[in-house]
Order: sequence, then structure tokens, then C-alpha cells
Amino acid sequence: MSRDRAPTCPVVGPGPERWIASVLGALLLVLLAPPAQAASAPQQCAAGHVRLTFDDGPHPTATPAILDTLAERGAEATFFVTGEKATARPDLVRRAAEQGHRIGNHSWSHPELTTLDRTQVASQLRRTNQAIELATGSPPSEWRPPYGATNDVVQAAARDVGLDEMVLWTVDPRDWADPPATAIRDRVLRAVRPGSIVLLHDATGQNTPAALPMILDGLSARGYCTQ
Ligand SMILES: [Zn+2]
Repeated sequence: MSRDRAPTCPVVGPGPERWIASVLGALLLVLLAPPAQAASAPQQCAAGHVRLTFDDGPHPTATPAILDTLAERGAEATFFVTGEKATARPDLVRRAAEQGHRIGNHSWSHPELTTLDRTQVASQLRRTNQAIELATGSPPSEWRPPYGATNDVVQAAARDVGLDEMVLWTVDPRDWADPPATAIRDRVLRAVRPGSIVLLHDATGQNTPAALPMILDGLSARGYCTQ
């Protein structure tokens, strides 16, 4: 009988002892299982961070709704505002900044900057810097070119006005084309990875405010935090 006793595993003995060991082993597996199956309630930020960005605002109704949702869920975002809209509603830019969100420069009137010369691009960006500073008390450091259109001239003009950090995006659910809110959610959640930058719109995406709570719930369920 003792020949069954493996020298490296003295607990596993012959006959009934082996059976008990199997049962204990199975029990141990069951006990260990919950952490492995905890995908429905992962630790906060276990999957990493995702940046949510909202372009083209502020918008009189969509932006407050989005800010409410972000506040309810303790989420962070970046608003790439145009100078025109920021000048029309500086209160909303200020509210976003006061809620802890980042404000970025998205040009004055949303032209394709690559069609302009360096002076014109600099003017688009400088005036928007001023509008943001007027609203929030500090100029932005981040900017995003409309349509993501950039070239050496545009880059040089951005540096001329102190904008060093261009932020594009990695996930584009095309919310501006007004797909259903559930489609916006699904497109984001399917594509999102640690470190993703999600492009959304508070001024041109009619269903974006309705999609946002679902997006945030989905990100949270997957262990992502927003930043
Ligand atoms: Zn835009």
C-alpha cells in the first residue's frame, strides 16, 4: 500500500485518503473559483484607464446632461471646445473645469486647418486659448485639430501659441451620425482597450447623452476607470 505514497506528496495516501484528497482538491477549486469568475464585479481600474473626449461643444442642453452623468458616476472626461461655442457659453466651460474635467482647444470655428496658412491656424488656436482662459482662468495645454487634419504647418502654428500636446483618438463610434444610443455603446465597448481615447461629441451627437450612462456602466463592469 505504501508504494502509492509519492515522496513529494506525502498527504496523498492510498485508498480512502486519496479519495478524501480528491474531494478536498475539488473543494479547493470551488473555493478558488470566485476570484477567477469575478468579471461581473472587477476591482476598480483593474483593466486600466480610458479617456473619454467630447468635441465641438459646449452645447446648451447636451453638455449639462453629459456633465450630470459624469458627476453621478464619478467619471472624468476631456472637452475639446471650439472658441466660438466657448465664447457663447463660458459658464458651461467653467462648470466642466470646476467638475475636474480637462478642457482642450478644438480651434475657433472648426475649419480643416490644413487648408489654412500658419498665421490663420495660429489665429484659430490663439483666440480659442483666450476664450478658454477667460472661462476657466487658465489656458489649455491640449488641443485636437478638427477632423484630425494636421500637417507640419499646423503643428508649427500650434507650437507658436503654446499648444504642445495634440490629442487624437483611437476609438471612433461615429456618434455624430446619430446612430441609436445602444449602437454607440456597443461600438465603444467592443473597441475599447487599456489606454484608449474615445471620440464622442457633445454638440453634434444627438444620442450621445443617452449613450453615456450605458458606456460608463459597461466600462466599469469591465474594470476600466475613466480619465
Ligand atoms: Zn470636431
